Amino acid sequence: GSPVCECNTCFGGPDCSQFSASCVADVDSGDPLFLEPFWMQHAASSALLVAGWHRMSYSFHDHSLISKELEKLIRKLHAIVGNANTTGRFIVFGAGSTQLLNAAVHALSPHNSSAPAKVVATIPFYPVYKSQTDFFRSVDFQFVGDTSLWTNTSDTTSNLIEFVTAPNNPDGKLNKAVLQGPSAKPIYDHAYYWPHFTPIPAPADEDLMIFTISKLTGHAGSRFGWALIKDKDVYETMSNYMSLNVDGVSRDTQLRALKLLKVVTQGRGREIFEFGYKTMKDRWEKLNKALLMSRRFSVEESSPQYCTFSGKVKRPSPAYAWLKCEKEEDKECYRVLKKAGIIGRNGTLFGADSSYVRLSLIKTQDDFDILLHQINKLVGEEDGGK
Ligand code: PMP
Repeated sequence: GSPVCECNTCFGGPDCSQFSASCVADVDSGDPLFLEPFWMQHAASSALLVAGWHRMSYSFHDHSLISKELEKLIRKLHAIVGNANTTGRFIVFGAGSTQLLNAAVHALSPHNSSAPAKVVATIPFYPVYKSQTDFFRSVDFQFVGDTSLWTNTSDTTSNLIEFVTAPNNPDGKLNKAVLQGPSAKPIYDHAYYWPHFTPIPAPADEDLMIFTISKLTGHAGSRFGWALIKDKDVYETMSNYMSLNVDGVSRDTQLRALKLLKVVTQGRGREIFEFGYKTMKDRWEKLNKALLMSRRFSVEESSPQYCTFSGKVKRPSPAYAWLKCEKEEDKECYRVLKKAGIIGRNGTLFGADSSYVRLSLIKTQDDFDILLHQINKLVGEEDGGK
């Protein structure tokens, strides 16, 4: 029969070379579909068939809400990747890391105190830290803005809960806690601390660390995350939060996570990271090349670091490009890009100014190819197309 046309949505013609003028690159969301081809290559080994009678109970045989087998596998995963020290840590599961973020804020806040905890994050930060903390309107904690405003506070009675995102969403930096002292309580969000996105200089070793499968395996829709917790009281408070909030993470989700992480850790446990890093590296090389000649748009380059996982010095390959419009007349960068057929996420949503836009590089290959096409076109038109 005739060959099947496999042009992406923006290209047509017999050899897929004609670009449709109305085409828009939608690189707004952080949907991690760049990993879809990996799971297509592992369709059989990652497949799950669950009989109707299986896992109907509220609890596992040991009366707990978490699968011990999955907990063991998570510890093994961190040992293989070398990105977190799990020794002497308790584990709590959550419906994605989203649920664990608030469980952690709750656990680090005083209860029945006249001084609610102050929750902070360093600009530019992931907007959910603020929107979620505001949403709960708790008497125990309150979001109070950028970390730098609280470095010299004379208030020592209230806890300062600092979200530390490493690598950071949106700018990819390996952030470290800014606030010090006995009332400073950092929550390390390591959603992107995987070899796809960053060299792994050393295992993370903080008191409270949050991880998720969303950007590791790409299964954002399964809603599965975990926290590694050193302090027993913090662990118990977070566990209690999970019991009261949803009575533990769906047992079906735990089963799916187990199946996926078995594939991730099988053999030498490197395959998904080789795929993930190669994909991200390739996208970054193309994007950097496209921006090389531009005087209008820039992305800050981070320096290479030694990666203990790969045994090589590597440049970070972050999930997002934190693009800056350099010219005064392009100050509304989001609008400039939108006019050129690129939908990013406005820097103002991350607390930064409007000359920044976040571009997601973790969507499908089609999404990335369309983005690259639009950027090349935009840069090619600079200085009247010289
Ligand atoms: N933390 C950061 C920094 C994120 O970017 C995201 C997702 N975009 C999350 C947490 C939440 O991820 P999930 O709830 O899917 O685990």
